[in-house]
Amino acid sequence: MSKCKYIFVTGGVTSSLGKGIVSSSLAVLLQGRGFRVTIQKLDPYLNVDPGTLNPYEHGECFVTNDGAETDLDLGHYERFLSVPMSKKNNVTTGSVYEKIIKRERKGDFLGKTVQVIPHVTNEIKNRITALATKDHDIIITEIGGTVGDIESLPYIETVRQLKFEKGDDAIVIHLTLVPYLKATEELKTKPTQHSVKSLLQFGVQPDVLVCRAEINLGRKLKNKIALFCNVNSDSVIESIDAKTIYDLPLLLAKQKLDLVVLDKLGYQNLKRLNIRRWNEFLLKLKNPKKSVEIAIVGKYVELKDAYKSISEALIHGGVFNRCEIKIRWIHSEDISTKTVAGLLKDCSGIVVAPGFGERGVNGKLITIEYARMNNISFLGICLGMQMAVVEFARNVLGLKTAHSTEINSKTKYPVIDLMQDQKVLLNKGGTMRLGSYKCKLVKKSKTFNAYKEEEIEERHRHRYEFNNEFLNKFKTSDMNFVGINPESELIEILELKSHKWFVGVQFHPEYKSTVINPHPLFKSFVKSTISKK
Ligand code: GLN
Repeated sequence: MSKCKYIFVTGGVTSSLGKGIVSSSLAVLLQGRGFRVTIQKLDPYLNVDPGTLNPYEHGECFVTNDGAETDLDLGHYERFLSVPMSKKNNVTTGSVYEKIIKRERKGDFLGKTVQVIPHVTNEIKNRITALATKDHDIIITEIGGTVGDIESLPYIETVRQLKFEKGDDAIVIHLTLVPYLKATEELKTKPTQHSVKSLLQFGVQPDVLVCRAEINLGRKLKNKIALFCNVNSDSVIESIDAKTIYDLPLLLAKQKLDLVVLDKLGYQNLKRLNIRRWNEFLLKLKNPKKSVEIAIVGKYVELKDAYKSISEALIHGGVFNRCEIKIRWIHSEDISTKTVAGLLKDCSGIVVAPGFGERGVNGKLITIEYARMNNISFLGICLGMQMAVVEFARNVLGLKTAHSTEINSKTKYPVIDLMQDQKVLLNKGGTMRLGSYKCKLVKKSKTFNAYKEEEIEERHRHRYEFNNEFLNKFKTSDMNFVGINPESELIEILELKSHKWFVGVQFHPEYKSTVINPHPLFKSFVKSTISKK
């Protein structure tokens, strides 16, 4: 095992303080000083992975190259670091217990009582140290939930043990909230003090405190927190509500978080911080030359986190084009033939989002028809692509009742159908076509112009596919299949020849877009939405 150092990030006071963004921002700074960093999320729930969770419960499910269905924080990690995450970067209590119980049944612990300590904590330790490969200098492990939660206790206990074992090679950053009371016009430190106390109760002394606050803490308050919580005053860092999440690395760098952390980990002779490309991105983000409005049509739009990677990929594509992206969130169930024109008025581009099941599908079909007929830039992702096939089959090819068998299993024209290898599956968890697959592009296409590569790899999460039995019906039509999986012949990408920019993809390009490397399709899509007035 290589000599890796460890940073644990815990959270206190409330959830949703942005541990993922803080971890990612710190990682950007450490990367900017030449360290090879990876970030891991430990999730305390009993699901084996979030793949079976409703997005309303958990936001987007992020998919890695190696086909893991993971927490959306892994999306932040990738977008900030431009380093792919893997199965190892997300651990859930469900997956830990699954492994232990399987081993117990096998007889691995014969004669022994299997217990939270040491068996569960050892397994968690294994999952953390599994990232200590020669590819990483520093592992940041984010512990989901809030300190004091019953379900995150085994993780905090593991942190205690590891901190003891690793000595100076491990530190803990605790993220808390310093609320502002309007009535008295003051920031209150008591919740932070209490939160550190509960961490101490479990034997963990934080080394650094990152305090989320609406306004600046000021030196006096930082000193006070330091005194009460047993940390140096330069180790009390504020995390002020920022205009964009992409500001946070700079806000933290200003307070020298990277230096504080590296010093505590015992690193000396540090390289100068180089985050030039990050700064270039920010400069462009904040100084757009134009602006467009793009609609995201989906059935979970009340919870924007359900489409996190898509909205971020649009922003990345926008920055590349020096263009501000205003996202108009449209609920697919609100769309009817009567409302469509009004709801989409003045949108220069339309994304029809991925999804499962029947709810909202009609609205998606109406949206797609509207984009097709009115020559509005269109990107259909996964279900969005499948519905583009259905819409075209019905309204252009005249197969009036065409559908996906996911929605209508008895349709006469199953243009989208369950994949052959899915038909025998009984279990729902982790059984979709997941992760990275190859796709060969047709050279004369908008997509090829975007990627400028003949063979690409993109990530997937689906059970249904274009039904190749209908290939002939589409052959001479305006719909062009320009991306095919070289092994299975599965249709991955469609375009309309006569349309300005109409692309449907069976995969999820959004997962691969990062700050440093905006995704080619999103760059091209945004470019197509900018009218040349
Ligand atoms: N429900 C569709 C399928 O399983 C699309 C999935 C998706 O949009 N991710 O194929």
